[in-house]
Amino acid sequence: MRKLAFCLLAALTASTLVAGAMPGTASAAASRPLPKGTKALTANPIYRAGKLPVTSCPEVGAQPTDYTNSQALLMFEKDCLDSTWKRFFGKVGFSFRAPSLELINKYEKTNACGRVDGFWGGAYCDKKQGIVVMIDGWMLEYADSSFLPYVLAHEYGHHVQKRAGILTAYDAAVRKMSRKKAIEFNKRMEEQADCLSGAFLKSIWASLGYPGTSALDQMLTYITEDMGDPSHGGGKHRAYWVNRGYRAGAPSACNTFTAPYSIIK
Ligand SMILES: [Zn+2]
Repeated sequence: MRKLAFCLLAALTASTLVAGAMPGTASAAASRPLPKGTKALTANPIYRAGKLPVTSCPEVGAQPTDYTNSQALLMFEKDCLDSTWKRFFGKVGFSFRAPSLELINKYEKTNACGRVDGFWGGAYCDKKQGIVVMIDGWMLEYADSSFLPYVLAHEYGHHVQKRAGILTAYDAAVRKMSRKKAIEFNKRMEEQADCLSGAFLKSIWASLGYPGTSALDQMLTYITEDMGDPSHGGGKHRAYWVNRGYRAGAPSACNTFTAPYSIIK
């Protein structure tokens, strides 16, 4: 699913904030046709386009301690995600436009996803190509790590999948599957978004100023312990894919659609 299931721990009150470029801006000139069908999933050109450009995004290394500075951190990260992935898509030759981003801290109607209720931290809605992140008390419990940047980078991973033709091929294929196969397939799609988030985090990591490797290790521990669920895959496997993307710094590491199911489930 294109949401992160999560326990809601507390609610704050503040208004919705819309950040970043709206859809329709930042189009690249290019236009290689998108792959279709199985090829879009298993042999997508994004797997052969090398590393993400290394950039500086130091504001993302700040510790999020409240709603306001968490918003600021995510807006900075959004700008870096936009420019990084735009450059990468330019290299691949696919057209690119940035998704919208809405940051909320209470359940309310959103532009991209409509009304979003329930226990989740982030969502990507591909019809409007928009991301919604709920910044709530639970997020701040993870403030001693790169967990919050991971949440946005994961949702952005779904946008990358959309722009690369992966989500469209996924949606067409999953409709014809048995329930059991569809759940397996969903985990592959989610863990690919995890891997893409890891690749992005690597591309900005040197600029974040985290001391040592503890912010990364702590994030992977949180994902292992808290992020597993029946539709996204086990926490251990999710952390594996984040780390795999991080180690490579490239979408080439993220072909979850050909990986053995033993490292997905
Ligand atoms: Zn997801």
